[in-house]
Formats: sequence, C-alpha cells, structure tokens
Amino acid sequence: MRIVRFLANDEARYGVLDAKDEIQPLKAPPFEGVEHDEGRFLLSEVELLAPCEPSKIVGIGLNYRDHAKEVGLELPKEPMLFLMPDTAVIGPGRTIRFPEMSERVDYEGELGVVIGRPAFRIKKEEAADYILGYTCFNDVTARDLQMLDTQFTRSKGFDTFAPIGPWIVTDIDPGSLDIETYLNGTRKQSSNTRQLLFDPLHLVHFVSWVMTLNPGDVIASGTPAGIGPMEPGDRVEIRIQGIGSLVNEVASWE
Ligand code: MG
Repeated sequence: MRIVRFLANDEARYGVLDAKDEIQPLKAPPFEGVEHDEGRFLLSEVELLAPCEPSKIVGIGLNYRDHAKEVGLELPKEPMLFLMPDTAVIGPGRTIRFPEMSERVDYEGELGVVIGRPAFRIKKEEAADYILGYTCFNDVTARDLQMLDTQFTRSKGFDTFAPIGPWIVTDIDPGSLDIETYLNGTRKQSSNTRQLLFDPLHLVHFVSWVMTLNPGDVIASGTPAGIGPMEPGDRVEIRIQGIGSLVNEVASWE
C-alpha cells in the first residue's frame, strides 16, 4: 500500500494511492488503521505533501559500509544518532533552499523509516510492528558547516533540508533495495540497503531505548557512497527500488 499526504481544496489529507494512480482519501491519519473516506482524486490533480508530519527526525551517521570507506572513517560500534527539526521537512517537488551561510550543500539519498505506533524501549524482534512503512529521504547537508561544527544541528537543520516522499510504502522488505541519487539526470549514488550496517529494525529498537518515537517520526537511516555537492538550479532525485522517486529542485533564498 502507498500512503500519500496531499493538498486538495486547501485541505491537507492522507490517502491511499492505488495502482491506477488514483487517491482514495482517508478519514484520519493512517496510524490507527486505514479508514477510507468517500471521493477520489487523481494524482495529477493534487499537490503531494511530505507523506508524514514528524515530531522529530532521527538521522543516522555512517551507516553504509561503502560510505564509511569513502570518507575514511571507522565503522561505528553503535548507531550514531543526530536530530533534525520538523521545520526542515519539505515534500516532493518543493524547493531546497541554499543557505547564505554555506558554500557547499550536499545531497544524501537515504531510506526513511516511518514510525506507525509510539515506540518506547522495544525489542528488535518487535520493531516491525512499530514501523508504518518506508519512504525516500534526502539528508541535505551543508558539508562545510558540518566540518566546522561539532554538532550537526546547523549543517542539517536548515529549513527545507529534509525532503521526504513521495509516499510511504507499507508492504516492502527493506533488506535488499537498490538506492540511487541522480543530479540533473546523472547517477551519483548507487548502492543497496544490503550495505547498511544497522538495519531498520535495529535502528527502531536502538533509538527507542533513547527516546520515544511517535507516529509519523522518521529515522533517516544513513547514506551510501557517492555524496557530493548541489548548486542552485540543480534537480536532485532520490530513487529507491519498490518505493519511487523523490524529486526536488535547488535554489537560493529569494
Ligand atoms: Mg545522512
């Protein structure tokens, strides 16, 4: 099942996108079960929003073996966590804004894990029950500021630096998915979730022993090798097998 959030008649709603790319609206957010409402919308007629409204985004650093090798850092013994604010979230098709403070802003294509139920101190064997599904995530990073700062708050926290979407896929095994990033149509990152050091179930388990994960929260599970810069005017696409494509453009602040 593909879950979308969309804007129709100035109202943000959740819906289920069927095989014909028609949206069946839902009566309520999908976290306590999917209850269909009346009506139908064509995907081409609505504006897609970020498919969830996270209260927080938990980022994971150095979680792909190929990326750790690329940056010459040792594999972490435990997941390396950082937080991104909800104000950084944008949906598919929205513009990533290049901040004046930075001279180098990178894409990082990532698998986003979307939480479905409040998760607090859960076992890894139970973690799947707490995941609503998976989506594409771009962990946009001001690389120069990341090198300057000890914390990642500034480099990953700018408004528009957390594109999510285009939808949440609920029935997919995240164990072996191709993940790619394209910049202006040229493939820049190409890996597979098999390269993940800590898998989504372990991440949900591990993070839940630190903080409660709320429905709609997202874990950005880390980026593979091939990170690199974007410039205003660029078009960036994160493509994950079995999920879809998250496309955003980059521009300066107006
Ligand atoms: Mg990242």
